[in-house]
Formats: sequence, C-alpha cells, structure tokens
Amino acid sequence: MTKRQLWILRIGIAASLLVFLLLRSFSRPQKTKRPISLESPTKIVMNTIARIVAVAPDEKTAKLSIDAAFEKIYRLETLMNRYDPSSQLSQVNLLAAKQPVKVDKDLFDILQQSVYYSKKTGGAFDITVGPLVDLWKKCAEANSMPADKQLEEIKKKIGFQRLLLDSNDFSVRFVAEGMKLDLGAIAKGYAADKAVNEMKKCGAVAGLVEIGGQIGCFGLTEEKNKWIVGIRNPAKQKDNRIIDKIAVSNMAVSTSGDYERFYKVADMRFSHIFNPKAEKSANELTSVTIIAPNGTEADVLATAVSVLGAEKGLDLIEKTEDTEAILIKTGSSEIIKSSGAEQYLAK
Ligand code: AMP
Ligand code: MG
Repeated sequence: MTKRQLWILRIGIAASLLVFLLLRSFSRPQKTKRPISLESPTKIVMNTIARIVAVAPDEKTAKLSIDAAFEKIYRLETLMNRYDPSSQLSQVNLLAAKQPVKVDKDLFDILQQSVYYSKKTGGAFDITVGPLVDLWKKCAEANSMPADKQLEEIKKKIGFQRLLLDSNDFSVRFVAEGMKLDLGAIAKGYAADKAVNEMKKCGAVAGLVEIGGQIGCFGLTEEKNKWIVGIRNPAKQKDNRIIDKIAVSNMAVSTSGDYERFYKVADMRFSHIFNPKAEKSANELTSVTIIAPNGTEADVLATAVSVLGAEKGLDLIEKTEDTEAILIKTGSSEIIKSSGAEQYLAK
C-alpha cells in the first residue's frame, strides 16, 4: 500500500466514525427532565373557592409559583373588597363623593378597565351598581320587593359616566353622593390574570388558576394536553352536573349564573346580576360561559351577556375577537352557542 493510499484509508475511517457518532447522537433520545405538576389545596378567597395547578421543571419552582400567585390574589382582595372597611375600595366608596381619592396602581388599572368595558358593553357591565346590590340585599333580608321610589333614588347614583378617573395622580372621584363601586363582576377574572403572570415570572411552564367560576390557564398539562374545564348544569346541582367540557390553553373561561347566587323575595328568585340601566335583576339567562383571551374580559363579558340576554349578548360576542359564548336560558335545557364555540368543546 502506498503512502497516499494509506492516508486515503485513514481519512475514510475518520469520516465514517464521525458520521456514525453524529447519527448516534441524533437518534439517541435526549435526556430531558419531565416537568412535574403540583395542585394547591383549595383556599377561600374573594368570597369563593380558589385552587391553582402549576406545571414546573421541579417541585420547588411549582410551589414557589403557587405561593406567589395566591399572594397576589390576596393582595388584590385586600384592595378591592368593598365589604372590608379597611380596603382601599371602601375608602373610595366612603370619600370619593367629597374629594378625589388616590389609589394603588392595581386598583386604578381595574377601574380604568371597568370603564373601558362599560363603554364596550353599552353599559350592561357597570361597576357603579353598588347601591342597587345593597338595596336588593336589604330587600331580601326584609323579604320585601324594592319600592319604585327607592329605585328612582338609586338611578341618580348609578352610571359609569359619574365615575371620574384622573390618570395624572391615580385618583378617583364620584359625581354623585351615595355612589358605591362593586368589583364583584371583574375582580376574580382580573386576579386570575395577575396570578397567571406571577406563575410565569416564577418559572412555571404551565398552570391553571381557578377562582370561583373564573379560570385562567397557560401552557399544557403535565401530560401535554389542553386544560379541561367543565360547564355545570344549572338545573342539577348533584347528579349529572357537567353538561359540556371545554379544552383550552392560554385562554380564560368564566361562568356567570343565577343558580348559585341569587336573592329570594316572596318565594321568588332574583339574579344577583343587575341591568344597571333598568335597575332590574337580569333573569333571561341562567348560565353564561365565556371563553376569551384573558380572565378580565371573560369575567366582564359573562356578566354583561347575562344582562344583555341571548340575542344582544351573542351579537356582542360575535363582534368581539377571539371570544365565544355558551348560554342556557332560564327554565330551558337548550344550550345556545356562539359561531366558533364548537372548536373548544372537548371530544
Ligand atoms: P359575576 O358573577 O361575575 O357575574 O358578578 C356578579 C356580581 O357583580 C354581583 O354579585 C354584583 O356584586 C356585581 N354586579 C351585578 N350586576 C352587575 C353589572 N351589571 N355590572 C357589574 N357588576 C355587577
Ligand atoms: Mg363577571
């Protein structure tokens, strides 16, 4: 064998070895660590039950993100609970008719978003419903219907146009005496969004936050599936409780209804959701589920559609991008869906 032939042979062997090693490294399964899933115990927050599931590279990260998410929810609750006299919202409700009240950025943000959605829903969603909620609470306790005179009085205290927000100094002012803000229709969805953000910041790769009927989720479950959310059957509280299942990722699902929270006067049930313009309880729909890109929007629209009813409510949903609705009319078992809702139904 000549020297030249020997070199060619050597180069040939080296090249085949390189190809062999390359192929081996590509075909060998990569040793990636499977993420773990951790579910929190249920907790009472915002006057309802909350739970969080975190998917993270390790248990420590999952726990950290669950703790951070709950911490954020508790912080928002202490700002926005109008039934806690020490909350910032209570200070606003107490003083804003007399003087501008400066508030935290988070509270100002939710108030600004509330006004935005009041305009978007033609006033069907309106956080100035506080006096109407209080009146119905009193009436239910006394078992007497509100008098026309009381409702007339309340008209002067309701309307988002009477709420003035100054973004220069984050201050809030009421135009009328006796106004009261109620964030019950937006706070849970808003908190779910903020909780999801906290989880991402802490290193969770996926997760689900559930606060009452509000669900926010991101990424995929530990088994690489979408998150499954059940829609409750309003007519059946015990057996046969789920009527449909939705599969979602990076979306929020919110359900409003009159089947769990309502006022009872003279043996009649009245929804806890009110039409702010007619000073009346909204009774056309018994269950409204909204699927939307974020929890704030899902929560707001579930309340707004409850007020608007099936026809106008579906119109609003069809006009709103990436948003779907599943409705059940009061006294009916028929399920009404917006045009794109089918894509989210779990097989
Ligand atoms: P949700 O369960 O999200 O529909 O919120 C219902 C709660 O929001 C009620 O218990 C009231 O505190 C408040 N609320 C009732 N009607 C309205 C409305 N039209 N707009 C905004 N908040 C409302
Ligand atoms: Mg709501």
